[in-house]
This record gives sequence, structure tokens and C-alpha cells, in this order.
Amino acid sequence: MPEKKQKKSDTQDSLQEYDIPDNRHNFDRIWALLKKEYPDAKPSLNYSNPLELLVATILSAQSTDVQINRVTEKLFKKYRTVEDYAEADFRELENDIYSTGFYKNKAKNIKDAARLIVEHYNGRVPETMAELVTLPGVGRKTANIVLARAFGVVEGIAVDTHVKRVSRRLGFTKNSDPEKIEQDLISLALKEDLDSISMTLIYHGRKICQARKPKCEICIVKELCPSRVMFIGK
Ligand code: SF4
Repeated sequence: MPEKKQKKSDTQDSLQEYDIPDNRHNFDRIWALLKKEYPDAKPSLNYSNPLELLVATILSAQSTDVQINRVTEKLFKKYRTVEDYAEADFRELENDIYSTGFYKNKAKNIKDAARLIVEHYNGRVPETMAELVTLPGVGRKTANIVLARAFGVVEGIAVDTHVKRVSRRLGFTKNSDPEKIEQDLISLALKEDLDSISMTLIYHGRKICQARKPKCEICIVKELCPSRVMFIGK
């Protein structure tokens, strides 16, 4: 089966050449507005244990939660333990997750991660950032999600393509590297808000601050956003 072509990154938007002013001083006001706008911002991946969340999160790269939930509904009935993934027939696993895109890489990462969990972590999904990021296909973004949702440990902020784009447009960071963006956001936010920042920015990015055509006219934070000038003028 042919691997799906990677979409052009939606962070490669027209703001690349635009020097967005530092707007960190407005973080608190913007965050208050966004928090009020998206009070129910929650992840929509379905899972019932840490292993399922780990697999769903690895699968979710470059895909939608709706699509992942469709796939995992069958997947989680077929693969119930970490050994099931570790011992899975590679081609069969590829086939089972084909519609999520990048299925070859994802199948390899899931199988290799499962093997490592069996061999080094007594068959249990590890509960620390340092251990989680040793698993294939698991970076800080996935680890932050698993730690917070599966174990209630909030260590950082999961930075995906929406968080990256919206944070940059709002002038909270000039960085492109997700780990640096995460640190920039952590330096601005209160500890109790760390858990909700990611999903709130994701909601705003999906609904309003979209990659190609942000809906600045109806954006709740447009008066405080330095990038609206680029899209709709003053
Ligand atoms: S004003 Fe436009 S660019 Fe700024 S956050 Fe809102 S939608 Fe995004």
C-alpha cells in the first residue's frame, strides 16, 4: 500500500516572513479570554487505559481525533495487551491502522514501543517523562498527553501544530522548535493552567485561527493579537 503523502505543514503560512512583535505582556488578558471562550476544551481521543491512550496518541499525528477513534474502536478490541502489539504481525498491524496515515512509521513505532515496554518496563506504560520519551514515536508532546491524561501528572504543555501556530501568531514565542515553544509558554502560564493551555489553543486553532485563512474578524482576541494586522489590517 502506498504511504500517504505528507501534507504541507500548516505552520508554513504567510507569517513566516512577518516579524511578529513580542506580545508576552498580553498573555494574561488573552489567556483569560480564550479560557472563557473554550471552557470545555478537552481531548476527544477515546481510550480506557494508559496503553490505549499511548497508542491513540501515537496514531493521532497528522490525523483527526474522529478518524483515530474510528480506527481504535476496532483496534482496541483486537489488541488488548502490550504483548499483543509487541508480537503483532507487522503487515497486519499496518493494515489495521492504514487509514490514519503514515501507517508504516506508526506501526513500527507502536510495535517497537510495545516491545520496549515489555522488556524494560515490566509490561506497564512508564509514568515519567524521562522514561516515556525513550519509547519510539514518543516525544514530549505525546509524553505530556499520556502523563496528564493517564496518570494525572502535569509536567508541561503538549505542543502540536495548532499550539505552535497560534502561540507564534499571538506573539507568545518566536521559536519554531516545539520544546522551546513549550518552555516559552510554561514561563508565561500559571502552573494550574498548564493542563488546559494546549487544548484551548488547539480549539482556537481549529475553529478560528486556522492555518491558511484565520477568521480574525470574529476572533475573540483580535484586539490583542499582533498578527491580525497581517491578515485584516488595522
Ligand atoms: S486575530 Fe487572527 S491571527 Fe490573531 S489569534 Fe485571532 S485568528 Fe489568529
